[in-house]
Amino acid sequence: MEKDENFPMSSLVSDQHIEVPQMKGIGFANVRNYVRERHGDSAWQRVLNSLPLAHREEVNAALAVGWYDVAHFAELLRAVDQVCGQGDLGLLREVGAAEAEQDLNRVLRIFLRVLTPSQIFKVEGRLWSHFQNSGTWVSSKVPGGVDARLTGWAVDAALCEELAGYLVRLVEFTGGKSVAVHHQTCRAKGHEHCVFEYRFSE
Ligand SMILES: [Zn+2]
Repeated sequence: MEKDENFPMSSLVSDQHIEVPQMKGIGFANVRNYVRERHGDSAWQRVLNSLPLAHREEVNAALAVGWYDVAHFAELLRAVDQVCGQGDLGLLREVGAAEAEQDLNRVLRIFLRVLTPSQIFKVEGRLWSHFQNSGTWVSSKVPGGVDARLTGWAVDAALCEELAGYLVRLVEFTGGKSVAVHHQTCRAKGHEHCVFEYRFSE
């Protein structure tokens, strides 16, 4: 195809927002650790075997620093829920919480300890862009908690369940008690945004 300087392909691509949502591989590594530690090596092997052949090696070898398709992460979460849970996405909040614990064990622990539960959503909004190439957070304080709204990320209910669990653990870590999250407004259900309604006492 010949290049037409007056009508470059790159402008077509950006106009149509074709960019694929990607994320750092740390999430893949955290899920791998979770499955091996809580469900055993054979469970991890069953998870890998249930993935499409083309993604299996990528998922097994994912490095914390690399970038990977968020859709492949969603596929991994669904496989873990199928092999280690009931296949109804019910395990994924536990998976998300376990991921948060691993991240907290590394760099975030000291940093987060000085924050309140409400402040954590502001920080999460900024940290997000270091780990994801898409998605924007807007959070607002409401009576009894925070409504955190995510726009423009990959659309998959499995990702939302995992994320809800992850953020519950972060809120708990900053001192939030009796943390609950409701996720009714969801892009996987056709809504424009994903809204995570966190309720807790400080
Ligand atoms: Zn959602």
